[in-house]
Amino acid sequence: MKSIFINEFMNYNINTQEQDTEHTMPNILVVEDDKAICESIAFALENESFEAQCFEMGLDALDYLNNNDVDLVVLDIGLPDISGFDLLRKIRKNSDIPVIILTARDDDADIVLGLEGLGADDYVTKPFSVRVLISRIRAQLRHTNKQASPVVDSTTGSDQPQVFKINKDLNQILLHDQAIDLTKAECKILLHLVENPNRIHSKEHLLNVMHDRPTGSSDSTIVTHIRHIRVALNKIDSDNEYIKNHRGLGYSLVI
Ligand code: CA
Repeated sequence: MKSIFINEFMNYNINTQEQDTEHTMPNILVVEDDKAICESIAFALENESFEAQCFEMGLDALDYLNNNDVDLVVLDIGLPDISGFDLLRKIRKNSDIPVIILTARDDDADIVLGLEGLGADDYVTKPFSVRVLISRIRAQLRHTNKQASPVVDSTTGSDQPQVFKINKDLNQILLHDQAIDLTKAECKILLHLVENPNRIHSKEHLLNVMHDRPTGSSDSTIVTHIRHIRVALNKIDSDNEYIKNHRGLGYSLVI
């Protein structure tokens, strides 16, 4: 995993977990160059049991977003390196993650551009109440129906029937209790999808999931791997299409 701490001062990773660990709490990316605003949002999110990652620079935030699991973006329009609208355009190339715009411009045209033209989900006009922002964040997360993963690690044992199970001791993923025949790289990709179901993962993100990917691997590598994974899943369960292709966005595992 490449370092995301381009500007350590501005990155308040308020959770003490390492970046590579799976996020069990909603992970909120706050892109805002005003340190006081960023700190107050992060502090309030922490109190409400969210994780928060703050970035001053839009492109640093985009890099983090492309390499980590994020549940929602709070995006300031006036950033030092790129406008929030341009950043939103870039985000929408790979992701349909909820985005809430922070704007000091109380201007209907700007807001309509952001919400409708570029695919923002909501906006908050400065100055704003952090409590209001958090209630908007909660509303967006309810829309996207973020739920606890319906997956268990079979090595820990569970009585509940699960579609997918992970046996980390044997480095296996099971579908309906049958081991799925996968290469190491395919196993990594499917493991990531199974641990983060019902959300879209871009091809670029999945390439980064394969830490030891060979040089020269590209989008077509992921396409090939996904095709093999589908065939392997189909051998066990031909009634369901678990992996969904989202044209231009990426793939999701639907459970
Ligand atoms: Ca700003």
